[in-house]
Amino acid sequence: MNAITDQAGPSGRTDHAAQPPTVPLLINGQFIESKTAEWREVINPATQQVLARVPFATAQEVDAAVASAQTAFRAWRRTPIGTRARIFLKYQQLIRENMAELAATLSAEQGKTLPDAEGDVFRGLEVVEHAAAIGNLQLGELANNVANGVDTYTLLQPLGVCAGITPFNFPAMIPLWMFPMAIATGNTFVLKPSEQDPMVTMRLCALALEAGVPPGVLNVVHGGEAVVNAICDHPDIKAISFVGSTRVGTHVYNRASLAGKRVQCMMGAKNHAIVLPDASREQTLNAIAGAAFGAAGQRCMALTTVILVGQAQQWVPELVDKAESLRISAGHEPGTDLGPLISCAARSRVETLIERGIADGATLELDGRNPAVSGYEKGNFVGPTIFSGVKPGMAIYDQEIFGPVLCLVAAANLDEAIAFINANPNGNGTAIFTQSGAAAHKFQEEIEVGQVGINVPIPVPVPLFSFTGSRASKLGDLGPYGKQVVQFYTQTKTVTARWFDDAAATGGVNTTISL
Ligand code: NAD
Repeated sequence: MNAITDQAGPSGRTDHAAQPPTVPLLINGQFIESKTAEWREVINPATQQVLARVPFATAQEVDAAVASAQTAFRAWRRTPIGTRARIFLKYQQLIRENMAELAATLSAEQGKTLPDAEGDVFRGLEVVEHAAAIGNLQLGELANNVANGVDTYTLLQPLGVCAGITPFNFPAMIPLWMFPMAIATGNTFVLKPSEQDPMVTMRLCALALEAGVPPGVLNVVHGGEAVVNAICDHPDIKAISFVGSTRVGTHVYNRASLAGKRVQCMMGAKNHAIVLPDASREQTLNAIAGAAFGAAGQRCMALTTVILVGQAQQWVPELVDKAESLRISAGHEPGTDLGPLISCAARSRVETLIERGIADGATLELDGRNPAVSGYEKGNFVGPTIFSGVKPGMAIYDQEIFGPVLCLVAAANLDEAIAFINANPNGNGTAIFTQSGAAAHKFQEEIEVGQVGINVPIPVPVPLFSFTGSRASKLGDLGPYGKQVVQFYTQTKTVTARWFDDAAATGGVNTTISL
């Protein structure tokens, strides 16, 4: 069975209209059809075409996936670093060779534009490249001669079976944040992709097997709450990486921690930018429009709130012009700037929040509701929307909208703007736009947010670093990918060793604590 399996229609041929393909589970190196009675459809958000059916795995299937990972761990943990690394060298090559197909699958099921879909795959590919160099990161330490003839050194050993639970908005990048690093460090893995767009994730898993990841080392189960809870509770899973909303992430963190696991949860956001009047006007406005409306605002690092300081408040009409000029269409259409929202439910939630923004007294500078999108009349489209005069207490400010809605706030000076951001519960990303080094330095030092951009609107770190986040945006102290995740996916063992030299033997029992 393939990563996505076509069902034979009545004629014996593949017949998508009659029965869309099913998304398989991956257990012990085999793509298998779930025996569950519970399925949901994977839907193209621009057309409402049903692309596939995804199963909600049974408890027995989750157990089988974990058992397969547990068995595979015995041999995988002993596989030499170089052998593991070469698999990831091959894997990065396969991802590059299949980039166009991966991006097309991603765009069809998720909605983002083809160039943005390639970016989604590419940012994950960077982590795969990093996993191929894991030998440089998984090094222990050695202190020679800590006592007479005694050395102390550390081993960073894999934990065992690790699991990952991923969101819909980056179905390539975020799974690739997780399983390559976990597997490269010697663990085995059970992945639970988003049930809304699992197809590109499955294709990436198929390529991982093709690259040489052995049976059982990478497994996939699909589902929702019940499967996630089974992962949190499973006694043979040692660590969980979660990326998604704050509500679900907090639940996963609490439940899995209580079950004795290591957990890292990267969660929701409300990212603010400060624009000082000395900022480079044209470049700043372009950066803000791209970061607020790209991917239809469905990025955890999207800029959702911009604080205009002093004279910068006069830039609103220009920002509205830029937003208005963006092209809305299906992700695969050339020249598209923003595609649809992931689901009809997401669209109606965003529209309701826009109505609440108006009712709460914010000024609607640009209304993106019900855009005319020729050829895609059934798509879940909301166009760029801008509110000014936004204040805490308004639903559009207090909630993560996860749509193309930008909130503008006015501030008299930098101190006021920094205090405003620090009073928000979230701390995922933030940015300042200024030509003043002193202002940027003050911002960098005083802002209580994990990822800080200076004239960079979406400051997602490359894998030489780790993704981070603070306050309500993150639970757990170590971030995904990069150096921190090597600590997360390994257990430090400290070895203190003395080798006896019989010729220099000294007599007597020593009952003191010294070495
Ligand atoms: P979500 O929390 O709804 O889903 C995430 C995962 O949890 C999915 O695999 C889903 O199946 C599962 N899930 C959903 N409901 C559940 C429940 N009740 N119990 C247990 N599991 C459940 O998130 P989403 O809508 O897929 O993604 C968007 C969210 O993810 C936004 O809040 C966004 O900010 C956040 N996000 C954060 C980061 C980050 O790095 N901080 C990155 C990307 C997305």
